[in-house]
Amino acid sequence: MNRQRLLILGSTGSVGTSTLDVVARHPERFEVVGLTSFRRVDLLFEQCRSFKPRVAVLPTEQRAAELRGLLAGAGLDTEVRVGAQALVELAGAAEVDSVMASIVGAAGLPACLAAARAGKRLLLANKEALVVGGALFMQAVKDGGATLLPIDSEHSAIFQCLPEDRNTWARRIDHIVLTASGGPFRQRRHDSLHGITPEQAVVHPNWVMGRKISVDSATMMNKALEVIEARWLFDLTPENIRVVVHPQSIIHSMVVCRDGSVLAQLGTPDMKVPIAYGLSFPERIESGAPRLDFMAMKDLSFEPPDRERFPGLYLAWDALRAPAGTTAILNAANEEAVSAFLSGTIGFTAIHSVNARTLDRLQPQLGASHGLDDLLDLDARARTEARQVMKALQP
Ligand code: NAD
Ligand code: MG
Repeated sequence: MNRQRLLILGSTGSVGTSTLDVVARHPERFEVVGLTSFRRVDLLFEQCRSFKPRVAVLPTEQRAAELRGLLAGAGLDTEVRVGAQALVELAGAAEVDSVMASIVGAAGLPACLAAARAGKRLLLANKEALVVGGALFMQAVKDGGATLLPIDSEHSAIFQCLPEDRNTWARRIDHIVLTASGGPFRQRRHDSLHGITPEQAVVHPNWVMGRKISVDSATMMNKALEVIEARWLFDLTPENIRVVVHPQSIIHSMVVCRDGSVLAQLGTPDMKVPIAYGLSFPERIESGAPRLDFMAMKDLSFEPPDRERFPGLYLAWDALRAPAGTTAILNAANEEAVSAFLSGTIGFTAIHSVNARTLDRLQPQLGASHGLDDLLDLDARARTEARQVMKALQP
């Protein structure tokens, strides 16, 4: 069997390192040909030492020089390339079969599109890329003949509950139910939410993840992005995507079929399961994740998401019904607001105000063209607008 030649975009992140954990269990199946990072030169070097990729990518000459020095010292011949364009070229390169898209944020979109257009097997963790790219992203997958495999645990769950033949999905699905843990503040008093610190917000009860998605889980903007992601992955109307809070994170999502039957996928909350499924689809391989112990399991409970506590969640359906481009504005505003919250510039509850106000201000100006350049331009404008909104919020 030929080994799958794998590029991991964002290999030093939470999903990236979990992907390498799974890959390391199956050296006969996978060859790591490319690894990339934004900041972590030390970790990227360690990964190069273990997996001996042909290429590594960093964003600046300075970091690249640092990595080259470390590689030379260790006698490794990994070629180091620089910048966002290097990511795009590598994602579409002939020596790559599969691309794990695990960069965080809209910054991952151009490389995802390149992989899609080049017909790669595209493992998508980078939900923001699909939220921004929308129809353009899905068209690129179609035109390029790419195989798009969801890695987000909820979307992997839905995908695992559906037959391989996509043409049957519309006839089978009545609606889908995305589960949400409710994050760390599910039971915290509403009136104390404004005082939450970044340290409190990034501690998730069930999952260990990067800082941005951890804050998104605390506001439930992560679920909002996932509703938008599901709309594109499974070609659903907004009405057919529902969300339920399930604090134990054992059921990862559900498909409610036309006949009333409900299909669910269960497992311990560990990203190695959806990653292993993406890597091996349509087969299954050992993931290394701990197994569910039914005898030790307590209740599985469900509750509706609290609208007052999680107002950001409800922006998803509004944005999907609004003109195209709206979801790109929402994503950009949220990236800026979360980054400002993490650096201590705005409070926790201000994240939602920034998102809602940026949408209000920019939505009426939306144009009709949505190519990559238009979307990147819209993303940049929304970030500028969000920063202005934040300035106005300061006392
Ligand atoms: P992370 O912050 O841990 O890692 C992000 C990776 O992207 C790092 O390798 C970083 O170096 C790289 N990166 C960051 N900014 C970049 C930029 N501008 N250009 C190029 N590279 C950049 O994030 P994560 O938690 O691994 O999440 C990655 C993606 O997967 C996100 O879109 C997230 O929503 C999604 N996701 C994560 C999880 C999880 O459990 N962590 C689960 C589902 C989906
Ligand atoms: Mg998820």
